[in-house]
Amino acid sequence: MESAPDTSRPAGSLGPTRVPSRQAIESVRGRKVAVSLDRPAGASREWEPTSGARRTPPTLAEVTSIFLVGAECAMRCTMCDLWRHTLDHPTPVGALPRQLAWGLRNAKWDSESARLSPESVLSSERWIKLYNASNFLDPRSVPIADWPELAQAIAPFDRVIVENHPRVRPRRAAEFARLLTAKLEIAVGLEAADDEILLGLNKRMTLADFVSATERWHEENIDVRAFILLAPPGAEPARATSLVIDTLRFAERHGVRHASVIPTRGSNSLLNALAPDGRFIPPAAGDLEATLAAALQLRFDMVVTADLWDWDGLRGHCETCREARRARLQRMNLTQRHESPSRADCRCSKG
Ligand code: SF4
Ligand SMILES: [Zn+2]
Repeated sequence: MESAPDTSRPAGSLGPTRVPSRQAIESVRGRKVAVSLDRPAGASREWEPTSGARRTPPTLAEVTSIFLVGAECAMRCTMCDLWRHTLDHPTPVGALPRQLAWGLRNAKWDSESARLSPESVLSSERWIKLYNASNFLDPRSVPIADWPELAQAIAPFDRVIVENHPRVRPRRAAEFARLLTAKLEIAVGLEAADDEILLGLNKRMTLADFVSATERWHEENIDVRAFILLAPPGAEPARATSLVIDTLRFAERHGVRHASVIPTRGSNSLLNALAPDGRFIPPAAGDLEATLAAALQLRFDMVVTADLWDWDGLRGHCETCREARRARLQRMNLTQRHESPSRADCRCSKG
């Protein structure tokens, strides 16, 4: 018997929210970046933990990430800046296999991961992320005619992770999984376990939608990863960490394998437009540190990591402490263990 979706609110939102129209969202966007159909927007390699804080010691997988260029997502989430590297038309057949082949040849190791000593690497699994800044199961973004070639190219990998919104063709996942030798994992923007905040983000998804899609995928032996926003617009700034913790609890209850905490980026002009009424205050470096520390100390039964992609763009660090603090977070990501901060001799760490 299926259990009823647990969609209880953690009471973290600022209350009733105006939902911006599609036109309002598009009117404050800047220009797209010039992209090529033959090359991905990026290709990198790094280590990632395969198990969370409850399992010791955590093992690591070598993860190749290919940032594919394809059709723009049909959604218009207010905090999204992924549209910058997308096309205004459907992805042409053949473009993604070409980009994937280029990415596999040219992916560069992340500098911090490359420094990791081989003795600390206890797993030899190879994983690949095929992130397309949209929904992998939407044929406008990933032509179904390309599926067999993509599946063949990633045959050497043990796990493939793709991104998809819970309401965009979730039933198609099993068809793609059948073409793979690797385990399929779907990464979903859960953002916050609060329907009011999801409404304000224009996610066009409720927590019940998330639960329904994850239950379906789990039945089909497909794993789920969740992206969780730190300090999304509409959330009480003082509750930034506790809202993430509530959302991690929700994700764990619903069988998420890996949760990645992403600081909401202030570079998005719509979010800046929301700032005057206090609905959006970009998170600081210290907020991300406090949140990862709290999460790891709670020892969830899933991997929890902090997304460090835009660490340099966060406020609240300086030239003296920036690199040391980033390296500490990266070690915490990999070991799934809390590490006490060292006292950096700088003004911002005393603030
Ligand atoms: S569903 Fe994902 S890719 Fe699409 S607009 Fe929302 S955040 Fe961006
Ligand atoms: Zn500093």
